[in-house]
Amino acid sequence: MEGRKIVSLTQNRADLRFPFPERFAERVSGQKIVRLGRRAKFLTVELSSGEVLVMHLGMTGRFTVSGHATARYKHETGTDPAHDHVVIVLDSHDIVTYNDPRRFGFMELWPAEQFQSYPRLMAMGPEPLSNHFSAAYLDTALKGKKAPIKAALLDQSVIAGLGNIYVCEALWRAKISPKRLSQSIPGQRAARLAPAINDVIAEAIEAGGSSISDFASASGELGYFQHRFAVYDREGQPCPACGTTIKRLVQSGRSTFYCPSCQR
Ligand SMILES: [Zn+2]
Repeated sequence: MEGRKIVSLTQNRADLRFPFPERFAERVSGQKIVRLGRRAKFLTVELSSGEVLVMHLGMTGRFTVSGHATARYKHETGTDPAHDHVVIVLDSHDIVTYNDPRRFGFMELWPAEQFQSYPRLMAMGPEPLSNHFSAAYLDTALKGKKAPIKAALLDQSVIAGLGNIYVCEALWRAKISPKRLSQSIPGQRAARLAPAINDVIAEAIEAGGSSISDFASASGELGYFQHRFAVYDREGQPCPACGTTIKRLVQSGRSTFYCPSCQR
């Protein structure tokens, strides 16, 4: 998409999780895509107009890129065309379709020069895999925090972009109990946790993501990292390291899977 021009944008309803931007099609059509990016769970499209299109997939959002205007997306990608909410046509004739059955995703336009003050990203912590994230960073961020480490890692102001699956898997790799208080992590445990987080993310990207219910890449391909889960969604099955039965508990409304023997 980078370097291409947006010929048209069609929105098939007034809103997703939030209303679409005012005069959305008009503000986007005819603009060149300067740069695609990502911060935390937000996708960003810098437009030649000086605005940034900020997008979030919510729970079930999916972009597909198709080469033909008449292609049936259901056939090609397994998505139901009834949930195609936004269709973008590029000057390359590629069709970029946003499909989202549950509509927790959203799209907003924000001035590029004020992007530092985009409210949903202002309080974001560092990206895993970046130079700003390390064991030393965790030492500082978790100092004095009483929340369980599971909750702290899901808090996007501590670390950006981590979701439930990858937090569970990283804690298992670092041999840290999800119930442990965050303030007891700095030191040796943080030294295990930071690389465990980076390894899980890097391996999941390499595997094309985790396709448990509806995730697929823009070309419609499914990820296969779910076949490598050590603990996530494996309640009652043996821990791959020690054979102890994997347990599940609910923390802040989300399921946590862990090995009660390996994780202390
Ligand atoms: Zn174990």
